[in-house]
Amino acid sequence: MAKGKIGVTSDNLFPIIKKFLYSDHEIFLREIISNAVDATQKLKTLALKGEYNGNTENLNIEVKIDKKAKTLTVSDKGIGMTTDEVKKYINQIAFSGANDFLEKYKNDTAAIIGHFGLGFYSSFMVSDKVEIISKSYQEEAEPIIWSCDGSPEYNLKKGERTEVGTDIVMHINDDSKEFLEEHRIKEMLEKYCKFLPIPVIFGKEKEWKDGKYVDTDKDNVINDTTPAWTKKPADLKDEDYSDFYHKLYPGVEDPLFNIHLNVDYPFKLTGILYFPKLKNSVEVQKNKIQLYCNQVFVTDHIEEIVPEFLTLLHGVIDSPDIPLNVSRSYLQSDQNVKKISNHITKKVADRLEEIFKDNREEFEKKWDDLKIFIEYGILSNEKFAERAKKFFLYKNTDGKYFTIEEYEKIIKENQTDKDGNLIHLYTNNKEEQFSFISAAKEKGYDVLMLDSVLTAPLINKFEQEDPKKRFSRVDADVVEKLIQKEDKDKIELSQQETDELEPLFSAVTPKGEAGYYVTFEDLGENAQPMVITQNEFMRRMKDMSNIQGGMSMYGNLPDNYTLVVNVAHPLVKQVIEDKSSKLGSDLEGLNAKLKEREDEKSALEKLKEGKKDEEIPQEEKDKLSEVTKSITDIESQKREKLSNFGTDNKLAKQMVDLALLANNMLKGEALDKFVKRSVELIK
Ligand code: ADP
Repeated sequence: MAKGKIGVTSDNLFPIIKKFLYSDHEIFLREIISNAVDATQKLKTLALKGEYNGNTENLNIEVKIDKKAKTLTVSDKGIGMTTDEVKKYINQIAFSGANDFLEKYKNDTAAIIGHFGLGFYSSFMVSDKVEIISKSYQEEAEPIIWSCDGSPEYNLKKGERTEVGTDIVMHINDDSKEFLEEHRIKEMLEKYCKFLPIPVIFGKEKEWKDGKYVDTDKDNVINDTTPAWTKKPADLKDEDYSDFYHKLYPGVEDPLFNIHLNVDYPFKLTGILYFPKLKNSVEVQKNKIQLYCNQVFVTDHIEEIVPEFLTLLHGVIDSPDIPLNVSRSYLQSDQNVKKISNHITKKVADRLEEIFKDNREEFEKKWDDLKIFIEYGILSNEKFAERAKKFFLYKNTDGKYFTIEEYEKIIKENQTDKDGNLIHLYTNNKEEQFSFISAAKEKGYDVLMLDSVLTAPLINKFEQEDPKKRFSRVDADVVEKLIQKEDKDKIELSQQETDELEPLFSAVTPKGEAGYYVTFEDLGENAQPMVITQNEFMRRMKDMSNIQGGMSMYGNLPDNYTLVVNVAHPLVKQVIEDKSSKLGSDLEGLNAKLKEREDEKSALEKLKEGKKDEEIPQEEKDKLSEVTKSITDIESQKREKLSNFGTDNKLAKQMVDLALLANNMLKGEALDKFVKRSVELIK
């Protein structure tokens, strides 16, 4: 029997393991089973090379719990270890600059494990004592038993084992009792070992008998040793891909497409990625791709390995070339990882382009479920955005699909404004913006359906890339002004007229948080008498801040609308005439007074010209301020009269309400009043 000290330069390895690796306790099982897999595969390789003549059939790995003895054992039939190998691989732990390293990466367990090759030692996170019972495949190798109780001292003695292979016996400590529970181990095996290349046995298969589950004679193998991604694409049918998908994500809808990745050079990578059906949201659906290293599950947080938008995909990536046990920040700067990331992005774009070209009908059918992924890709990855120009689709309100190029050709003739801008009209809600859509269609315009959560940033991007390209939601302005063509002869109101009409119509706009700004346009006598629009720029800024979340200047602003009064409409004309006949003489009187006072004011201001303040007699100053005040008074009298007239004018109120109704903005009490007033008017 030999006693010795484990070869670390730091005395306190075990406290360190326990302290730093605390949060990630369960990975010990992955580490121990991975070693068992490696040992088994090595033996198989030796047999293939003719260097081992023993039996290599049924080389499985077994995981056993002994509740009484409080042990968890992982047994393999792999190459085993000789005394020298135990001394070399287990006792000598490369431990250079240990304390500095630990300090730096204290929050990154994976990095610590990777750096020290602590795979085996992670068993001490959960054990009071660990034993290795092993016999090497080498002829005449003595079986050994190694044990260590968590102090840097170990015991190594001759064992009695006759079969080639290794048992790792972990005496589970009191804090880790959960690892003696069958369901807990099962859960971990399913997480980390589901696709290991060597069969892993855990207990017996169970069957339902006499009202409960009982063990059968058959070993319970928990893994599929040849998962779909390890096979050649040519050997797989569509249903194999979808079966595998459902194995990964039970109870989820079928995916839209898949991509089989198979790279040998300059790095090794295999995998299958799936496009899931995406809902109109982004965050909740991330982190479904599982990363494996030679079929050992590593993580499902792969943000550092693939571009962010690809994290919306599902599936599996397996690469021995991704440095797994390093810190996440290191991963991002790793050249291999960059190559892998670019490669995957390219493959995804290739595949989408291929489906689009070969089967456009299918592609269009799936577009609505796919678009958020592509939009996200365009927004977040320039390389992908460049590629996606070929297969990004616009869908219009008639449900037809167009590529960007096709669509621009179609609208060029009719939707180019007088400054040469190509105006894309869109809606995000066919019901709510119905009247605007039909007005646009009557003019021969096409209207796109852009209702994604990412619409605002996406069209911002399109506009930035090409300043001659503009997007305008159909309710951003009256149809005449959405796409400004050469001006025709129109009714133009004088400044005095608009000044008088503004308070009149302002009086009938809703009083609430939202602001209304009144303008006057000649929209033709056949158009609606009034239309309520919302400025594209302001609205889009609000949309943007809503998706970005957080406090933003735009997000907190109240909504602002424009009430466009169609001065060519007979009903509006009627209100204007009414105003003239009812208020005409009053207003004339006020206007005459106003004129008088304004003349006085300009005469007084003329007197002031060229003089310094102290040179102006006090009398003149007083006179000027009196005149100015009087002007303000008359103006507010005018305003008040007009405003009162507006408030009492049922026709004006009715027209505003109709415009609100067309936008689905008339609600509650206002709607009730409208209905009652309408009945009155019909009677
Ligand atoms: P790593 O696996 O990263 O090399 P470990 O600490 O997990 O680090 O293991 C150290 C070494 O011990 C392995 O490289 C291997 O040579 C040996 N070893 C561990 N477990 C086994 C096993 N079950 N069978 C044979 N050799 C093993």
